Amino acid sequence: MAYDPNNIFAKILRGEIPCDKVYEDEHTLAFNDINPQTPTHVLVVPKGPYVSWTDFSERASDAEIAALVRAVGTVAKQAGAVEEGYRVLSNAGANANQEVPHLHLHVFAGRPLGRMVAKAKE
Ligand code: AMP
Repeated sequence: MAYDPNNIFAKILRGEIPCDKVYEDEHTLAFNDINPQTPTHVLVVPKGPYVSWTDFSERASDAEIAALVRAVGTVAKQAGAVEEGYRVLSNAGANANQEVPHLHLHVFAGRPLGRMVAKAKE
């Protein structure tokens, strides 16, 4: 899939629409999800134009990859979630219901999070 520069996170990264920023560095931005599913629900995004984990893993520089990984750790720590636990999740493509076509990692914390995914009915 080609990168769509008009997606909502691209607009946030260009400063065209606001976000509730919790962390930023040269390669990465993290902000609170507008529709939080848990008491802490942060989105961690690379600043570069990457659609998904697959795209990022193929094209991003080592510095961008390191920054994204470290930013997730920092966000979890900042949220005070390390001791009680947290979950990191990234949806990629249709089966995962990816809504925004700019790579983002969800960081969920603040309550028990249940099992990883709902088991399909047979
Ligand atoms: P996904 O289904 O993994 O693509 O998740 C997209 C996430 O982006 C959802 O959790 C939305 O609530 C969130 N979202 C959409 N627009 C915004 C926005 N303007 N600011 C913050 N979060 C947003």
